[in-house]
Amino acid sequence: MSDDEAAIAAAWAELTDTARRTAAEGLVVGTSGNVSVRVGELVLVTPTGVPYDRLGPADTVAVDLEGRQVMGTLRPTSEIPMHLAVYRNTDARAVVHTHAVHATAVSTLATELPLVHYMAAALGGPVRVAPYALYGSEELAENMLRALEGRTGCLLQNHGTVTYGTGLAQAYDRTAQLEWMCRLWLTASALPGRTPSLLSPAQLDEVAERLRGYGQPPP
Ligand code: 13P
Ligand code: ZN
Repeated sequence: MSDDEAAIAAAWAELTDTARRTAAEGLVVGTSGNVSVRVGELVLVTPTGVPYDRLGPADTVAVDLEGRQVMGTLRPTSEIPMHLAVYRNTDARAVVHTHAVHATAVSTLATELPLVHYMAAALGGPVRVAPYALYGSEELAENMLRALEGRTGCLLQNHGTVTYGTGLAQAYDRTAQLEWMCRLWLTASALPGRTPSLLSPAQLDEVAERLRGYGQPPP
């Protein structure tokens, strides 16, 4: 196996693990959602309509940045336009799309997730909702791209979530954080006659600054 083949095999294994995790952790039901990871000029993607627990090493699907299928026989995800729009316009190495229930609920109620928690800073600021468009359409990809400006995640109205990152672990973690924040807002706003307090943009900027030094120093 060449170095390139080994890199693709490793990325596919991580992609299928991540896709299975979206189902196991309740962020999608059935074959909803999709996951992709970039390896050089290739984008590995989940196939459309295939349960994630059935995906093995022989099922690798890859497209190039123009959307031409270059590996595999299973048809790629229907959301190729969204995934490619992210890779063409950002430094993303991985993209995760889910139908997480609290996030999708918020997408039907607001045009932006209110600043109920400082972790919005980890996604670049207040998370926007991309206006509804048909799944798999170029229009949905365009709406998503506008909602992602300056952010690493957004909601898709009456549909779900999209996040990206430097790798699958970060993209997945951002989805989980986004779903958690949406659950938080729904929980806090559910008390009759009470309105949750919100953070100011200045408070969020302060968090963004502090998060730059978050965690352990590099070894
Ligand atoms: P695929 O099975 O084609 O990836 O579609 C699932 C989905 O979530 C479409 O938005
Ligand atoms: Zn979807």
